Amino acid sequence: MKYEAVIGLEIHSELKTKTKIFCGCATTFGAEQNTHVCPVCLGLPGVLPVINKRVVEFAIRAGLALNCTINKFSKFDRKNYYYPDLPKNFQTSQYDLPIAEKGYVDIDVDGQKKRIRITRIHMEEDAGKLVHSGNTIKDSATSNVDYNRTGVPLIEIVSEPDMATPQEARVYMEKVKSILEYIDVSNCRMEEGNLRADLNVSLRPVGTTALGTKAEMKNINSFKAVEDALAYEIQRQQEVLEDGGHLVQETRTWDPDKGITLSMRTKEAAHDYRYMPEPDLVPIVTTDEEIAAYRKALPELPDARRQRLETEDGLSSYDAGIITGSRELAEYFDAAIVDGADAKLTANWMMGDLAKNLNAEGKTIQDSPVDAKRLGQMIMLISKGTISSKIAKKVFVEMWTSPDAPEKIVKDKGLVQITDTKAIEGIVDAVIAANPKPVADYKGGNTKAIGALVGQVMKQSKGKANPGVVNQLLKAKLDT
Ligand SMILES: [Zn+2]
Repeated sequence: MKYEAVIGLEIHSELKTKTKIFCGCATTFGAEQNTHVCPVCLGLPGVLPVINKRVVEFAIRAGLALNCTINKFSKFDRKNYYYPDLPKNFQTSQYDLPIAEKGYVDIDVDGQKKRIRITRIHMEEDAGKLVHSGNTIKDSATSNVDYNRTGVPLIEIVSEPDMATPQEARVYMEKVKSILEYIDVSNCRMEEGNLRADLNVSLRPVGTTALGTKAEMKNINSFKAVEDALAYEIQRQQEVLEDGGHLVQETRTWDPDKGITLSMRTKEAAHDYRYMPEPDLVPIVTTDEEIAAYRKALPELPDARRQRLETEDGLSSYDAGIITGSRELAEYFDAAIVDGADAKLTANWMMGDLAKNLNAEGKTIQDSPVDAKRLGQMIMLISKGTISSKIAKKVFVEMWTSPDAPEKIVKDKGLVQITDTKAIEGIVDAVIAANPKPVADYKGGNTKAIGALVGQVMKQSKGKANPGVVNQLLKAKLDT
């Protein structure tokens, strides 16, 4: 029997508010353990939480950007469970009336478009963190609990099980990340746990519609792990089913070092959490006018921006997809072309030399030594014919370590392209005289032989001769 995978994601995103969701403690990452805590986020008796207005604002913004309907009446609920990182013994979350529902995200996998539906988005507080003395809880003599993260605001974005491959799941998560970055509600630093996903996956025979028994893998915080964990799990479930075995609904952990998933516990059902309305917080009521104002304030989103880059700037769909894949890249691009640099050339440079240099030094576009303005200036020098594309590579290398404007570098290093025919003619004559073989080949009908001569002229001019002019001159002289 052939099986197909059915995948759904629950993405948790920490919101970039300055303070926590129900108290005034700072949300700063990396502070000394248990220094950003107060009676409210420690859940001490007698305290009352107050909702951080910013959290609601960010959640609504996310809901609108992900094409959801905003619920005008929304409330908080208590999700009861015990774990040492949860001092109240319940998590304040949302159950039956989340802030947003019924949205979607369009993804593009290998040129194929697909719509992934979003079931709901709800607000909740993050839990604390256990810090083990060893690598895992099993090989640790002691574990500390750090409550700095307790009460940091989260939104949970729950998708429908609309994905069929690990790649689709990855692309979906990348798209959600980029949208959250565009609307500026989360830092999305995956290495800091700002963005993590629970993956649900089950198999069913191809051609059937009933859902199979699913496994859930929690807290996956890299795109690679999303893909790897799903690929492993699909394979594992397939082997169990093909051997005539039965799957149990369970939570499994992903071990990235061994590349396997392991059973952790059988999955709780919602009623095990004994959800109940949170009596200490008032419901959230939002008016149509407020929702309209939030919608109006949304920035241009990745899909619209991609469309604009294709239609107005003439980029290919592929290039536009990469440039708009992150807000930083898109902004860099816009800043680079604003003074008139050629869009296509700018995209090529960004995805070529710039990306290569950044990768080599482990830098992001934000800490690029060559800022957008200077890259744009350099590209304009190419378009004007002041430098050739080949010389531009040298200029770019200089710009990487020098703060000077490209024009100054070109002047100081004597890199101006020679377009003066007279200056090039002398070299062309010398090259023709010194290379009888390619000259004879060319005259004998092998037009490609001219390449070797162009190469020689370029070499002798130290790359400064304008290749177009060299070509013209050579042809003129050889064809007579
Ligand atoms: Zn606090």
